[in-house]
Amino acid sequence: MIIVLNIFWFIVAFIFSAFILDPYYQGLYRVHHFGEYLVECVIIAMLMLLPANIARRKGRSFSAFAIYGILLWIVALIHAIMMSSDKVKAEPDKYKSCPYCGETVLKVATKCKHCHEMLE
Ligand SMILES: [Zn+2]
Repeated sequence: MIIVLNIFWFIVAFIFSAFILDPYYQGLYRVHHFGEYLVECVIIAMLMLLPANIARRKGRSFSAFAIYGILLWIVALIHAIMMSSDKVKAEPDKYKSCPYCGETVLKVATKCKHCHEMLE
């Protein structure tokens, strides 16, 4: 699923990066440097998806951050790095939310370390 999303958004980012680079590669220059042009488009497209991949590791929406990253790359990157990780969504096998206080606790925990309630 995440691979399909990555490929889809990579294509979108690739097309978008071509529009950004197009003014620098015109006419005969583009014909002679088409290889470099493609390589730069690929690099830019991968960079554009960087915030989305960071966000996904923190349990956030990949697609939302892919759009965000393509349109406002530097803002999205800083946002993705600065935001706190949602451990419950990122690793649902390992963490759960405490039903009493809402804090993240280990799935195997029998007592909440935050509010000290007993968990079943
Ligand atoms: Zn609790």
